[in-house]
Amino acid sequence: MNAFQAPKGTYDLLPPDSAAFLAVRTAIAAPLRTAGYGYVETPAFEHVELFARGVGESTDIVTKEMYAFSTKGGTDLALRPEGTASVLRAALEANLHKAGNLPVKLWYSGSYYRYERPQKGRYRQFSQVGAEAIGAEDPALDAELIILADQAYRSLGLREFRILLNSLGDKECRPVYREALQGFLRGLDLDEETLRRAEINPLRVLDDKRADVQKQLVGAPLLRDYLCDACKAYHEEVRALLTAAGVAFEDDAKLVRGLDYYTRTTFEFVHDGLGSQSAVGGGGRYDGLSEMIGGPALPSVGWALGVDRTVLALEAEGVVLDVPSATDVYAVPLGEEARRVLFGVVTRLREEGVATDFSYGGKGLKGAMKNANRSGARYALVAGERDLAEGVLQLKDMESGEQRPVALDAVVETVKAALA
Ligand code: ATP
Ligand code: MG
Repeated sequence: MNAFQAPKGTYDLLPPDSAAFLAVRTAIAAPLRTAGYGYVETPAFEHVELFARGVGESTDIVTKEMYAFSTKGGTDLALRPEGTASVLRAALEANLHKAGNLPVKLWYSGSYYRYERPQKGRYRQFSQVGAEAIGAEDPALDAELIILADQAYRSLGLREFRILLNSLGDKECRPVYREALQGFLRGLDLDEETLRRAEINPLRVLDDKRADVQKQLVGAPLLRDYLCDACKAYHEEVRALLTAAGVAFEDDAKLVRGLDYYTRTTFEFVHDGLGSQSAVGGGGRYDGLSEMIGGPALPSVGWALGVDRTVLALEAEGVVLDVPSATDVYAVPLGEEARRVLFGVVTRLREEGVATDFSYGGKGLKGAMKNANRSGARYALVAGERDLAEGVLQLKDMESGEQRPVALDAVVETVKAALA
């Protein structure tokens, strides 16, 4: 182990690249904030039981990928592998669902942890922005969430993503389908582990990425042929609302997703420039989850978008985000008195929202100008004793190299006008 090396599967976000990451988080959240979603933050760890019950004992996330540990006090905890179970737990604990305003709409942003085999787009700590609408069964809510995610990606400039859509049925029709699928899977040539999975959670076998498995699944019964009338009507309404909103989607009868709690509407956002880690986000309806973790019946729907993969998707499309410059103005004092005066100007400019930095450490003109250049500032403000005696500062355009004196008592207005 090297103490200066981040643990396997993790990476640091550093300037200047970190600015794009932050911009992606902000852009994904923006449509949610205009649609009535309130910000929620939950702990980075929870009782392991919450995920075992909420995400599902038979999922890869719980059986293989969870960072579970016992505390010194003997409590079994796990780093959160996803957000939905925690957010629902928090809403139930605070009785938000009893306040009378259903659905409870929440959004979150944070780090999640899965012990996976690290590769490009797959990390052991990754970042998601998510949204949950808790306590309402309404196809317009499912459509709303898909539309908001679509808006978020479009606002970032992403174009080469696709929306895959399916319905997983409900507790009426899914058991019938489950049995039909199980019957089909038992007749296939599958390895031991996959056969076991077929008994515990046969739908997940549809999600198997291996080509030899997919080949055998060609004739598998499809859920859409088993949907009950209520589920069919619900799904048709979601599709109609998306179409009316101009949001293009593809019906994907085999889309199941890795978590146990999904019912009815299920969707995934995939990007074609990402290789095998193609899912940039996903979500769906989880009408049974609240009861699974010990709460009342609360039909709900949500999604989580992966920030890391969204950043990679932007790179794949060659989209460069218009991130505001870290420094607009760089102040270079020459001498002690100038230092005091310019430091005051810097503070005032910052108060006015102008991104301003200062040459610290008593550098000479040459070194300070080099730093001004590196900072990417549009202007440098330079002042020596003679300037101050005349009541001016020198405003230097870093692109053209032109320099002109500006009155000290009008410097804030002058700089703002120059930047506008
Ligand atoms: P995958 O099939 O690629 O493993 P998933 O179905 O496990 O994805 P979800 O649990 O639906 O993913 O999480 C939502 C999003 O979070 C994913 O679409 C992806 O963008 C991101 N994500 C999930 N796991 C990771 C990871 N290990 N590293 C980076 N991003 C991830
Ligand atoms: Mg996964």
